[in-house]
Amino acid sequence: MSASAKLAQRIFRAEVLGMHAYAVPDARGMVKLDAMENPYALPEALRAKLAARLAEVALNRYPVPSYAELIAALRAGMEIPAAASVILGNGSDELISMLSVACAKPGAVMLAPLPGFVMYKMSAELAGCRFVGVPLTPQFQLDATAMRAAIAEHKPAVVYVAYPNNPTGTLFDAADVARLIAAAPATLFVIDEAYQPFTGKTWMGRLGEFPNLAVMRTVSKLGLAGLRLGLLAGPPELVSELDKVRPPYNVNVLTEVAAVLLLEDKAVLDEQAALLRAERETLRAELAALPGVEVFASDANFLLLRVPDAAAAFHGLRQREVLVKNVSTMHELLAGCLRVTVGTPEENRRFLDAFQQALQD
Ligand SMILES: *Cc1c(COP(=O)(O)O)cnc(C)c1O
Repeated sequence: MSASAKLAQRIFRAEVLGMHAYAVPDARGMVKLDAMENPYALPEALRAKLAARLAEVALNRYPVPSYAELIAALRAGMEIPAAASVILGNGSDELISMLSVACAKPGAVMLAPLPGFVMYKMSAELAGCRFVGVPLTPQFQLDATAMRAAIAEHKPAVVYVAYPNNPTGTLFDAADVARLIAAAPATLFVIDEAYQPFTGKTWMGRLGEFPNLAVMRTVSKLGLAGLRLGLLAGPPELVSELDKVRPPYNVNVLTEVAAVLLLEDKAVLDEQAALLRAERETLRAELAALPGVEVFASDANFLLLRVPDAAAAFHGLRQREVLVKNVSTMHELLAGCLRVTVGTPEENRRFLDAFQQALQD
């Protein structure tokens, strides 16, 4: 073992040494339908406006940590109630990480339904919290009874509910979720609305109803994944504590200025989201017509489907230069499942053609 490898073994925690880095496959030259990105570019005129505005940014200065203008733009664009406080993250991933760090008392538990977003578990365990996953029903609905029992048993600091859920695309029953929130005042519920642009449903307007509710949003799935910008809105007494964990300059000045400008033209992104919603239903109908393929309802910009052999279908697609996500080994409920992001009509056509061929390999 090299001296540096020995040093790594000595200084890093066993959890870190035992982890795998978040794997991002090489997608060069592929139809990229694995990461829920918006496939559409910004209109030329808007790009020119953005370039001119970014050219004026004072890169020699630190961001102003209040981010007042950006937060005001987000409040307007995402209909955040005036009574709620807002904290920004370098993507919602960073907010999840801040929550884990802030809550990591000895024995602290973070809980979420499974299959769910992998960062809830990864981030909890990295911070030294215990993660409890509660299986969904086989149709990927919330198992309200099991959730209630697990919350009573483990008394989690935080429960994450992705609404809609990733990787299933399911929109859980809101009344079930509301009952869980009301029944567990000693737990913070974080509703993760990363896919809100594709469903229109939101908990934002219900923040005032529950003292233990926060709503998380991101601009990533809306079409700005490269900016890395997310937010959490919630009761001021909770957000002000969480804000102590936030690195003071966590959102950079280019992101700040770009987001303010693009939120003024949010209608452009909303229209793209509407196109993707319509295209999702077209794609779903075509997939549902294929023999041996089960496709699930989705309120997000992706579809979950089940095939007889997920690994073979994944490789067959990859050979034909289409990249999707093989989620079949993520959780036992996902056996045989692939997740495919909704692309442009041309991308979806290429996916469908490749998929039909792959099924016959
Ligand atoms: C993609 C995704 C996010 C990540 O958002 P970023 O803002 O890009 O970090 C958060 N939650 C869920 C459920 C997601 O699928």
